[in-house]
Amino acid sequence: MQIIIFGSPGVGKGTQAKILSAKLNIPHISTGDILREAIKNQTEVGKKAKEIVEHGELVPDSIMGEIVKQTLHDQKCKSGFILDGFPRTIAQAEILEKIFESLKNESLFLIKLDADDNVIIQRLSNRMVCSKCGNIVVKDEVTENYKCPVCGSVNSYYKRRDDDESVIKHRLEVYHQTTAPVFDFYKTKAAVIDVDGTQHINDVTNQILSKLGVSCN
Ligand code: AMP
Repeated sequence: MQIIIFGSPGVGKGTQAKILSAKLNIPHISTGDILREAIKNQTEVGKKAKEIVEHGELVPDSIMGEIVKQTLHDQKCKSGFILDGFPRTIAQAEILEKIFESLKNESLFLIKLDADDNVIIQRLSNRMVCSKCGNIVVKDEVTENYKCPVCGSVNSYYKRRDDDESVIKHRLEVYHQTTAPVFDFYKTKAAVIDVDGTQHINDVTNQILSKLGVSCN
């Protein structure tokens, strides 16, 4: 199963993609995570992407296309994948079409999560992320020596630099102007699954699974 998880920053794509990845046993490919790792390791891509990511801009399509091409051709993506954060432009959607031509033909689903911008601003300004496993919690939960409920790391939570309010607003502008039109590109190319992303995490997951026609506990 090939899945693109789509929606504005902070709508819960990463959270749902992680859950679905475990339930469906296909890898979660997050281009944001790949870039953050590259920035942390100061690779060539990381050096080019650092400022761009911190300011909530988009990394050039050619760089992103190359990253996704290499990742999707990896053996681990043979039986499918959940793509989170890509494509974010029409040019990236066209690159992905070419990549699909060279992959095994599988059914393509596009899961679209929706939420109003004010919900997103509230969520992103109040979230902290585990640097070890990527789990997200509300800022107020993170006290001194806080232990990650998922991976057990201590003091591993941080606020992403692009979760600053002015950067969040800019990321939303970029989403509406450049990324939202990508949805139309897939209307006829994928089975579209629309879900209200403001619901409880478990309800979002259950609706997605039911619309995918998958039953798993
Ligand atoms: P995310 O974790 O998906 O919110 O991505 C964080 C940041 O990484 C974005 O705001 C962009 O700066 C960059 N990024 C991630 N995916 C892409 C992409 N497909 N194209 C361009 N930039 C991206």
